[in-house]
Amino acid sequence: MVDSLPNIAIVELTSPSMATLAPPVPHPLGLRDLNRLRVIESIYRHPGCSRADIARRTGLSRGTVSTVAEELGRAHLIHEHDAPDDPLRPRSTGRPPTLLSLVPGTAFAIGVDIGHRHIRVTVCDLAGEPVAEKWSRVNVDDAPSETLDLAHQLAQQALNEAAVTPGQLLGAGIGLAAPIDQRTGEVKANGILPGWHGVAPASEMQDRLGISVQLANDADMGALGEKVFGAGRAVDDMIYIRLSAGVGAGLILGGQPYRGGYGMAGEIGHVCVQPRGQICRCGNRGCLETVASPVAVTRLLEHVVERPMTPDQLLDLVAAGDRGACRAVADAGEAVGMVVSWIVNVLNPELVVIGGELAAGGDVLLDPIRASIDRHSLPGAAADVQVTAGVLGDRAEVLGAAALILAQSPLALAERVRS
Ligand SMILES: [Zn+2]
Repeated sequence: MVDSLPNIAIVELTSPSMATLAPPVPHPLGLRDLNRLRVIESIYRHPGCSRADIARRTGLSRGTVSTVAEELGRAHLIHEHDAPDDPLRPRSTGRPPTLLSLVPGTAFAIGVDIGHRHIRVTVCDLAGEPVAEKWSRVNVDDAPSETLDLAHQLAQQALNEAAVTPGQLLGAGIGLAAPIDQRTGEVKANGILPGWHGVAPASEMQDRLGISVQLANDADMGALGEKVFGAGRAVDDMIYIRLSAGVGAGLILGGQPYRGGYGMAGEIGHVCVQPRGQICRCGNRGCLETVASPVAVTRLLEHVVERPMTPDQLLDLVAAGDRGACRAVADAGEAVGMVVSWIVNVLNPELVVIGGELAAGGDVLLDPIRASIDRHSLPGAAADVQVTAGVLGDRAEVLGAAALILAQSPLALAERVRS
């Protein structure tokens, strides 16, 4: 699952009480240490590879690769297995090579997704497979302490359920529905997550969990989740659009997450699309979020059905082909497509992945997004970009948050063998 994992910087926050597997403080590596790290990284990025594959990808000799693999086997970090049967493989080529993979249960990462109205927690093994997941509906916007306490409780429940010990943990990643100042780790959003302005959630969660914690914007984590595990695995330049209670974008450029100079890249939910439109929670007027969040779209139908509606009910109407519901979702798609067309002209992405609840609208949403990109982008850039729904659904953000931590596993495992 992790063959295209981007390189991500090592965690900044390190607790003195941290578990043995936590990312180590960087220090000079000897040649043997570097060789070990390169072999582990190669196996991590290409699970089920042969010794010859590793030698080719790392430039190390077959002998060095075999020596390091033997050492990793003795440390129970890797296991050998046969290649799956391939009916196209000629019988005359002899026995297929033995393949190497990391032992998935060697280490684990916690992913946490904190939206405006929910918390989702997952514990993933080294292969990125969730071994326990917890979810709770909660009003996040004005209650940072209560939210972080609940996230801690859910994480503990998931760890207990999966029988994962603190010593097996690499750390925890959090995706939060607000802009994060990467210089300070603080939430920088008076209106967007009102009670959280100035709060440093990574530091707060680190105190609760006792392990290293990294924090990022939730759309950035959705982008990483789809890049590592989902629709974006084969591309290097993609935009992930989250159409949820908050609207935002996560960028993957040149195979790497891009967060801008201070961590606030991708805030397309607060780009103006209707200069005389509704006042947004950010204080501006006519932001994309006021016309394309599921709540905003649902509100358009309430005066027709003459009762309060939920976004789930809106999507049920869309699935049933209700004309008004389809029109409301299509108009939201047109607005999203116009904003995406500006990004398409500037960044020339290969892929646009639509996530968040509204993505369940399918082609009723996606076709107007495509048409709007075609209409407003340069023809060459518009012709090259694919628009698709995410394949991870509402788990993109939490899996991306776990992937943020799993990316550090080769260095942590190499350090474990070294020590
Ligand atoms: Zn706004």
